Amino acid sequence: MTQTVTIALSKGRILDETLPLLAEAGVEPVDDIARSRKLVFPTTRPDVRLLVIRATDVPTYVQYGGADLGVTGKDVLMEHGAEGLYEPLDLKIACCRLMTAGRKDEQTPEGRVRVATKFVNLARQYYARQGRQVDVIKLYGAMELAPILGLADEIVDIVDTGNTLRANGLEPRELICHISSRLVVNRTAMKTKHRVLQPIIDDLGAAVARRQVPA
Ligand code: AMP
Repeated sequence: MTQTVTIALSKGRILDETLPLLAEAGVEPVDDIARSRKLVFPTTRPDVRLLVIRATDVPTYVQYGGADLGVTGKDVLMEHGAEGLYEPLDLKIACCRLMTAGRKDEQTPEGRVRVATKFVNLARQYYARQGRQVDVIKLYGAMELAPILGLADEIVDIVDTGNTLRANGLEPRELICHISSRLVVNRTAMKTKHRVLQPIIDDLGAAVARRQVPA
């Protein structure tokens, strides 16, 4: 009996970097994902379909078996927690840093710090490790506004080039961790669909390894 495989992909820049890796592993969407409003895409492999969803929803879909495999950022995975998931592969794409940031040329205040972020769990853990008292304010986007408008002393956010921070009068402060996108697998599917999932994981691993070899 043919077992179907559902792979949940993160929209946006992670998707752009995931599709070439999947193509090298023999999985290509038959439609142009960028031009479509569909959420489910058949692929050149009749037994494999792709979901294109928000990065923050990928761990949830994979954890509950809505998808067998998923690709999302390590930031999202750390914030979500690893319950029900294996993380067999660092895809080494969409690399960036999770950092604290604040207003340019200003010191972080002594004592209790107000921190705005969408990564509330990661922020709490980070400041606790530093032994610093924080009030964490949950935002869903445009974190850079918070220090400018006096909502927070610092933010915890993803930094790539640093242009977004600079454009808003902020500067990076402390590196929390390096981030890249990871392949995750539903723990149950890893057993029940091992025969069909393992070759896809191996092919993706080989595609990642080929890119690490200097030209
Ligand atoms: P930058 O201006 O290049 O430092 O990019 C920072 C902004 O882009 C942040 O607001 C992030 O939300 C977003 N961003 C950059 N790289 C990534 C990534 N790999 N994954 C998710 N978001 C990212």
